[in-house]
Amino acid sequence: MVVPNFADWCAIDILDPQGQAVRLAVVHEDPEKVEISKELWSSYPPDPKEKHGFYQILKKGQIEVYPEITKEMLTAGAIDKKQLSLLKKINLKSVAVMPLISRGKRLGLLSFGTAESGRVLTKAEIPFFKKMAERVSLLADNARLYSALSRQMQQQKIIKNELEKSQVKFKSVFQSSLIGMMIFDNEGRIREVNKALCELLDRKPKSILKKRVTEVIELDNPDKFNGNWQEEKSGKYTGKAEWNDREGKTKLLEYTITDLISPGLSLLALRDITDQVVEQRRREHFLTITGHELKSPLASIKSISQLLKKQLKSTSESVNEYLEEIDHKVDTINRLVNDLLDVTRIRQGKIEFLYEVVDLSELLDELIKEVSYTAKDWQVIKRGTFPKEIITDRGRLTQVLRNLITNAIKYAPDAKKIIINVQKNSLKRNYKVEIQDFGPGIAPAEQAKIFNLYYRASKSKTSKGLGVGLFISSQIIKQLGGRLNVHSQVGKGTKFYFTLPYRPK
Ligand code: ADP
Repeated sequence: MVVPNFADWCAIDILDPQGQAVRLAVVHEDPEKVEISKELWSSYPPDPKEKHGFYQILKKGQIEVYPEITKEMLTAGAIDKKQLSLLKKINLKSVAVMPLISRGKRLGLLSFGTAESGRVLTKAEIPFFKKMAERVSLLADNARLYSALSRQMQQQKIIKNELEKSQVKFKSVFQSSLIGMMIFDNEGRIREVNKALCELLDRKPKSILKKRVTEVIELDNPDKFNGNWQEEKSGKYTGKAEWNDREGKTKLLEYTITDLISPGLSLLALRDITDQVVEQRRREHFLTITGHELKSPLASIKSISQLLKKQLKSTSESVNEYLEEIDHKVDTINRLVNDLLDVTRIRQGKIEFLYEVVDLSELLDELIKEVSYTAKDWQVIKRGTFPKEIITDRGRLTQVLRNLITNAIKYAPDAKKIIINVQKNSLKRNYKVEIQDFGPGIAPAEQAKIFNLYYRASKSKTSKGLGVGLFISSQIIKQLGGRLNVHSQVGKGTKFYFTLPYRPK
């Protein structure tokens, strides 16, 4: 409409979503000239750093009119000879550029140019340019909205497809899983169940669906499932449950709950741990019985050996030594039996404590004397401030210290030196006790695991031990109100340390 009646050239350039200038349209009667103009645009695209280019005019947001484009203006504006020659071929006489603005947003520029016609565009025509710019802006805005909308629709379609695909995948994993699973909503009502769950509970899906989770299995924390589950959980939760089968036998179950992406839905995975728990209880029962069975003959041997020691005191040096050795060996077996019994007691929460006033220095001296029977050439050095009156369980504290000192001797056999350091912390009202050896140390990856029950570090598999000492020690220290920790450097040695409050809380 504009070309060729009003101007010889017309161009629409817009900003794309990335903020780049894009030539949307360029019109001229002569297709060859259009090609030249396209070449100019592609070889010399607008540069945001230019003083008079696309970006600057758009930034100013005002109509600009250049009634006369002189040769000098072309020469001054051209970047190189090639651009100058292309500009000359187009041979613009007069130019008007107007910003396209819609709903306050700057969309791009509309440009008119005259050449062959020799028509001059003047500032007097600004009202007309303005009207043209308004109309084109409206069209451009609609086109932009439409393309944004169709892009969004396309993206939504892709997302929907992906969602459908992942739902199909999830359903097939859910159904074929060997682990019993159910999906429940935030009211605790069961929405879906898989085959493994129906087999585990020996129920048909119909008889479970729509029921509350708590109606189907007996959970350790049923409150969480009655409506307020969503607020309480933090994405994942593990617990124990019980369930009675058709014959009235109780099954023990372990469950994990995970949030699903769908709002208000959660996934509960269920595992039958009856056999495992029964087996564990059987083992613990066996250990308790064996431990107690061993204790009485051991007590008899101990008293007989002490009786013999008294009666044969001056008979001969070697007889005394043998009897002494029997005594120590009996003590060692006794401690092993007690350790095994302690494991069961700790697991069942049945360990008992007897608090009294303890002189730590004296307790350590006795202990050092005891270990020196078996570690004769060892040096055990005491350092720091030793409390004379600390309220704690003497027997249990001795057990921990004995374990840490004998470990230092067992795992650092060449070092021959142990340092026991005790520091008072008046502010925290506790003592820090450190047992330091100069042995091979413990690798960082194993340091956290050595406090686990039955764990033995890879290097020590050859030496004797049950892997229960540190587990028991850390549990005892916890009960005594402290914490047992380790600091170790491979090749340099190990420091086990724990805190003891002045008195238990
Ligand atoms: P056990 O000595 O019966 O194996 P513990 O629970 O007392 O059991 O110790 C667990 C593991 O920690 C040991 O097997 C050993 O590998 C490591 N360990 C304990 N004390 C030391 C130490 N002082 N130096 C190096 N390794 C140690």
